[in-house]
Amino acid sequence: MNTLTALKPLHLESTALSQSAPVPITVAMGDGIGPEIMVACLEIMQAAGARLAIEAIDIGEGVYRAGNSAGIGADAWDSVRRTRVLLKAPITTPQGGGYKSLNVTLRKSLGLFANVRPCVSYHPFVATKHPTMDVVIVRENEEDLYAGIEHRQTDEVYQCLKLVSRPGCERIVRYAFEYAKAHGRKKVTCFTKDNIMKMTDGLFHKVFDEIGAQYPSIAREHLIVDIGAARLADTPEDFDVIVTSNLYGDIISDIAAQIAGSVGLAGSANIGAHGAMFEAIHGSAPTIAGTDVANPSGLLLASVMMLDHIGQPEVAARIHNAWLRTLEDGIHTADVFAQGVSGALVGTKGFTAAVIERLGQTPRTLAAIAPSSTPAGAVQVAPYIRPKPAKKAMVGIDVFVDWSGSDADVLAAGLKGATTPGFGLTMITNRGVKVWPAGLPETFRTDHWRCRFMVNAGMTVNGHMVADLLRQLATAGVGFVKTEHLYTFDGEPGFSLGQGQ
Ligand code: NAD
Repeated sequence: MNTLTALKPLHLESTALSQSAPVPITVAMGDGIGPEIMVACLEIMQAAGARLAIEAIDIGEGVYRAGNSAGIGADAWDSVRRTRVLLKAPITTPQGGGYKSLNVTLRKSLGLFANVRPCVSYHPFVATKHPTMDVVIVRENEEDLYAGIEHRQTDEVYQCLKLVSRPGCERIVRYAFEYAKAHGRKKVTCFTKDNIMKMTDGLFHKVFDEIGAQYPSIAREHLIVDIGAARLADTPEDFDVIVTSNLYGDIISDIAAQIAGSVGLAGSANIGAHGAMFEAIHGSAPTIAGTDVANPSGLLLASVMMLDHIGQPEVAARIHNAWLRTLEDGIHTADVFAQGVSGALVGTKGFTAAVIERLGQTPRTLAAIAPSSTPAGAVQVAPYIRPKPAKKAMVGIDVFVDWSGSDADVLAAGLKGATTPGFGLTMITNRGVKVWPAGLPETFRTDHWRCRFMVNAGMTVNGHMVADLLRQLATAGVGFVKTEHLYTFDGEPGFSLGQGQ
């Protein structure tokens, strides 16, 4: 059940800057350090003249523990769908199974396809080995391994589906180039692992090349994610905008934020066609909750992005500049405090007061921020137009079999005896490696066998013939656990070969 406590609009207003109407936003106070850093941000925004009509919602740990496995109730959804802007403090996901990640649920349910994470160093005021780092990571937010489709298929083998779609790739890649164009960025780098995942990551890379070619004034490069991540950690100043898929983006954006100075300093915007969510990139840090130690900067920079998004760029810049000045003045929370660099060690409240005191001031050394004319949410990506579909023809079927034997010749003999007309057994792999015909004895075998039946030359198969094959296999006692149909698209194979094939 939702433990919603407050959905009363709360107006944060100042007459200092403008008389325009307050903008409705939804605010989630979060768990752990969430409430104290959110209060800090709301106080700073109020003092800076933000015009906000706040709807507070309860999501997270309390809602999970009250029996709602999604961590968010109907009233909270209503508020987010009404305001279309969510400022969210980190939440705690209770340990143990049965709880869905609220962040993933929010991002996917609201179609927030782009996760934008600027990672900037504040040298010499925050210790970093990378004084000139200024990288924006644009992470695909909805698909890839985060589709959350996992199965245990045999005693020994578990599977997580990596789903990559052309519309998903086109949208995020175009967003990255549009973002680069709008923000005067010079280069977009794409990270994939398409030397191994030629179809899924290959699609991402292909779309990157296709769309990148439409932006001739922006340099583009592609790196395999392993060397790309290594180079990002070593020489982040070589990068400008990075676009990548969900899992790689999740990992490299934490690396980038950490090497810029601290994960506690980075905010992120989750942008979609129907709304946006703003949050710090760190978690709820339960061990320091309620101790006035937490750094509110990540959530504050997320608030700055939100103010840009809702059309209050002058307030955003005012806060950003006061915050930079606070860092320059050496007023630091414990996570970034360093002897010889920092001046005063403060808690959350002291830091908040210091930022408020500096509203109206600009940094002396770091570059001052001018009000943005191109907020993250103003970067528009045209809706996907489905092209004429390719000609799709079924040419075979992979039948995955649970079998605890080890001799693939024995399995092959059993399968051949149960094969129906139209199909021929051509290959068996184990964890992707060919073990029949002519496998190597050194190859380790689990209880999960991929058995490839190709359609015989000159035959056309239909769904009934597939069902007949499976019926025959079942009659022969073959324990199949799943099937994948093999298609060609305009004559091009839509499936990978076995390793060693
Ligand atoms: P964490 O980010 O909460 O903490 C990692 C380390 O960084 C801890 O030492 C913590 O004390 C410190 N830290 C984090 N934020 C800080 C801040 N603002 N100021 C000072 N120090 C800070 O990561 P974790 O410990 O892996 O996760 C704790 C909980 O947060 C888990 O329940 C996790 O599921 C959740 N989480 C939530 C979000 C989110 O809501 N967006 C993101 C990540 C983790």
